Amino acid sequence: MTKLVIPQPKRHPYPPVVLHNNLHQSDYMACEPSKSHYYPDGDVAIIVPPTIFKVHSLILSIGSNFFKTRMSGEWSDVTERAIEVLDTLAADVRLDVQRCRHRIFIDDEKPQDVGLLLSFLYPNYRDFSWDKIAALWRLADKYLAEALTDAVRTHVQKMCHQDPLTSLILAEQYDIAAVYEPMSAHIVENLHKYESDALFSQLSVETRCKLYQHRLKIIENLANIELVYISCQSCADLCNDQLKVVLHDKAKDSILQTIKTIQAVPNFPYEHTKCSVKVYNVINHYLRRKFGSTEPTIEVLERHPSFRISLSSSEPLI
Ligand SMILES: [Zn+2]
Repeated sequence: MTKLVIPQPKRHPYPPVVLHNNLHQSDYMACEPSKSHYYPDGDVAIIVPPTIFKVHSLILSIGSNFFKTRMSGEWSDVTERAIEVLDTLAADVRLDVQRCRHRIFIDDEKPQDVGLLLSFLYPNYRDFSWDKIAALWRLADKYLAEALTDAVRTHVQKMCHQDPLTSLILAEQYDIAAVYEPMSAHIVENLHKYESDALFSQLSVETRCKLYQHRLKIIENLANIELVYISCQSCADLCNDQLKVVLHDKAKDSILQTIKTIQAVPNFPYEHTKCSVKVYNVINHYLRRKFGSTEPTIEVLERHPSFRISLSSSEPLI
């Protein structure tokens, strides 16, 4: 019986290879072709243990300056480990990899993240769902994929209202005031809802402090509606009691919801009709003065200085 001889690669026959030294041969035993990006006519093998992608150098070069440079042939850091990895591949896969013009090893990414990046570098795939945005932006940044970076930034700028918290986190990370400032107003407006989200802890401590401080200041202001114009003491006391109840009960609600409840305070059965009218006028005057409208919307609050946090770190904590 003829023994099957698997051709062994010569020493250092490979172009650019980067591999960290903390991996062991056993880590690569289960390397398998990717189900989504393994093209028969691909000429680049990207090995992200335990997955191998086989893709087109043209697509990589157009989409990512990292890969463009990586395939320029100027790299020569072939390592013993890289040779070992190739030795562990199944014979047909290894042959496939050896036939590729370029072999790129990446051992500091998850295969699914590299798969996500490749999905965006290939045309006709534009799934910018919010659970992928952060990973996409990070990958676009790291792999110098300029078109993808632009696409992700544009998407976040246009669609930030769909997910204010994720947008705020990204805007802080990538220094985009045009997203950070209006989205901070959304978070301030409904802070207790957003702070229960696991993503909230990804904001910097400074941003979190400012969000709490802005929120507290707004609640303090709401608690200070001046009722001096109401001459009748008993009706003024009743109104004050109502406002206290609202602010106590609604302390964790959205500010817009709290404002709606405050607007209902004049409807309480006051002893005198003229007092009820005065309460209505005082509250509406206050809302107009504070928020520019008796019925503010989130779009109004987005532009309001008490709700917006400046991205500039020079803004003093209030
Ligand atoms: Zn009265």
